[in-house]
Amino acid sequence: MISVPYPVIFTDLDGTLLDHHTYAWDKAMPALEKCKEANAPVVLVSSKTRAEMEPLQRELGLTDPFIVENGGGVFFPLKGSLPPPAGLEQDGGFLKMSLGVPYPALCKALDEVAGVLELKAKGFFKMSVSDIAELTGLSMQEAEKASKRDFDEPFVIDDSTPADDALLRAEFRKRGLELSIGGRFYHVHGKADKATALDKVVAWYKTNGFQVISVALGDSQNDFSMLRRADYAYYLGKGPAPVEQVPRVIQAPEPGPSGWNRVILDFFHNLPA
Ligand SMILES: [Mg+2]
Repeated sequence: MISVPYPVIFTDLDGTLLDHHTYAWDKAMPALEKCKEANAPVVLVSSKTRAEMEPLQRELGLTDPFIVENGGGVFFPLKGSLPPPAGLEQDGGFLKMSLGVPYPALCKALDEVAGVLELKAKGFFKMSVSDIAELTGLSMQEAEKASKRDFDEPFVIDDSTPADDALLRAEFRKRGLELSIGGRFYHVHGKADKATALDKVVAWYKTNGFQVISVALGDSQNDFSMLRRADYAYYLGKGPAPVEQVPRVIQAPEPGPSGWNRVILDFFHNLPA
């Protein structure tokens, strides 16, 4: 087999491919088209749920695997061009790879930790769909999808009891869990993170004979593990690039989808033929 470099694009959604406020991605269209033209898979990687990501995947015209709930699970297309990994559970038109901790255990731990640290914390499991809609800016229909969770519990902490992030993380770790800090929410989940899930997807392409070049794009702390793991890492956030946490990170000239467009077009332009 002739081995040619095979770029696989791993992208966060909110604030990265999707505009932080409007959730629009139209400014990234030229680069998304370029990925299609170059046969480069675009793997969506988000804190979002499967119910939220599946329609987006369809709207974007993608047929690649996607990573849900901060790396808690990977959905592989059942009828894609490559054989899916063996031994996975079928779930609708996908095969589900579970990497995370089951949801009820996360909710219980959040209650315990909030009690120990005397924090007024509130997770999605204690919010109504309209609470979630209000906090996220999502429509009721979208908020309903966001509430269907498998591997990750988003939560907020009331301003009256500000949290020390290091203490909070330490309490979750005592329970075998991890804390991620996203653009809008704290998230508690198992040890699997976006990097763990990226590894599984890269391994799958490699098993199928591809010489993968992984390219990761993100804007928040919950993307840093994935940015560290990838061959090329782009920071799409506002403010300075996190060079301490991700030494090789490249800062996009603009945040969000317009930055996405620029860095991906540049990436392909500079890729040796
Ligand atoms: Mg984000």
